[in-house]
Amino acid sequence: MIDLKNLTIEKAHESFKKGEYASRDLVEEYLKVIKEKNKELNAYLEVYEDVLKQADEADKKFKNGTASELTGIPFAIKDNILFEGHIASAGSKILENYTASYDSFVMRELRKAGAVIIGRTNMDEFAMGSSTQTSAYGVSRNPHDTSRLPGGSSGGSAAAVAADMALVALGTETCGSVREPAAFCGLVGLKPTYGAVSRNGIIAMGNSLDQVAPFGKNVRDAEIIFNFLSKYDKEDSTSIPDKSRVLDTRQKEGAGGGCIGVPWHLFEKGVDPAVMENFKQSMEKFKKAGYEIVDIELPFSKYSLEAYYIIMPAEVSTNLARFDGIRYGFSVQNDKEINNLKDIYMKSRGRGFGKEARRRILLGTYVLSHGYYDAYYNKAVKVREKVKREIIEAFKKVDLIATPTAPMPAFKIGEKLDDPVAMYLCDIFSAPANLAGVPSIALPSGMTKENLPLSIQFMAPHFGEEALLKAGKEFEKIR
Ligand code: GLN
Repeated sequence: MIDLKNLTIEKAHESFKKGEYASRDLVEEYLKVIKEKNKELNAYLEVYEDVLKQADEADKKFKNGTASELTGIPFAIKDNILFEGHIASAGSKILENYTASYDSFVMRELRKAGAVIIGRTNMDEFAMGSSTQTSAYGVSRNPHDTSRLPGGSSGGSAAAVAADMALVALGTETCGSVREPAAFCGLVGLKPTYGAVSRNGIIAMGNSLDQVAPFGKNVRDAEIIFNFLSKYDKEDSTSIPDKSRVLDTRQKEGAGGGCIGVPWHLFEKGVDPAVMENFKQSMEKFKKAGYEIVDIELPFSKYSLEAYYIIMPAEVSTNLARFDGIRYGFSVQNDKEINNLKDIYMKSRGRGFGKEARRRILLGTYVLSHGYYDAYYNKAVKVREKVKREIIEAFKKVDLIATPTAPMPAFKIGEKLDDPVAMYLCDIFSAPANLAGVPSIALPSGMTKENLPLSIQFMAPHFGEEALLKAGKEFEKIR
């Protein structure tokens, strides 16, 4: 029996190297847990048939000396990450039978490294949501309390790792979709600097915001995955070339040190008391460990969510235009009501997309339409720039910015479903990092009385991942 609960990439790698067990043995353990738990948790939409074959290939790499640190490591992958020859549905009916014709950049890197891809995980449709409730394939459940949700949109990936159905996972973030489920499931989630990890082969939601991000049970696991994936990719026009991958020089001198800025004014209201209490205690712990905690003001950041919910739907309406019932996926063609091409478009999109996707396409089309473009889209873009500038400015004074990760712990199935704005508010603390493109990490910080995970998050300047990981590791010792 392998102790899956306390397993990390480093421990598994050591065991593979020493021959204590092989990747095949480890994968078989995970498959047992999947068999036992996935029916209830619905974390995986599909477990790949060739997973043991992948493990055998990995074991060969150890024998012939070509193994890397990720060789044989079992990953769960969000359903919007293309893996050649496998279905990638983005949690949507419209892509139910869409098979990827090429590997995404991150899959190419993972496969080169010899990682084992166990399967694809459930998500909110096209990554729109904070709970997996907009998935066309049913909700995922939170392993800590199965009457609750694992967060979203990468909820399936988070549930898979938290329930020991994979050692680690990949999700994607447009606005908190890795950090919030990490918070709800008691995991570490690391959202990289925008442009650090290639988006090539990720089913787009909002291109100017989307990023691939790892989940792990500890900071080191997230770090190892990030280091493998953070590379320039000439096939992604927003991938940042190596020579520009430098820590923002405008930041505080001697950064990477111990000055944490807290924008208290952003969470005066609307935060669950258990989250607030835990956040304060966590800051106290940093203070005792020698960190300086200072109050900072981010006056524009309080409009982040508003700006996000204009920019993102604008990009969604453009990106989702390609799903027209002709070029890709689900198509209504043999219906009595179809008389012409327009009917095919309308019926395919009307039936293929769920309610939230349709809502965002309409919102996005509206804010980009003539007469409203300046009033909404252009204004939101200006707010985004203000948010970005004030965050960069803040990093002249502090090394890190801390907030709670989400305003509440995991909520119940069915909750917030009829109130989109209540659901959107889950991302209130995530949005500034996504708008500004800076990296951010979610760190487990304790449990509520009901035994639900709590989490704090840090932001750092562009390419300041090292500072996030350093603070995260420190917190693992003192929390
Ligand atoms: N929850 C947010 C939304 O609904 C963000 C989703 C994401 O990060 N992919 O848009």
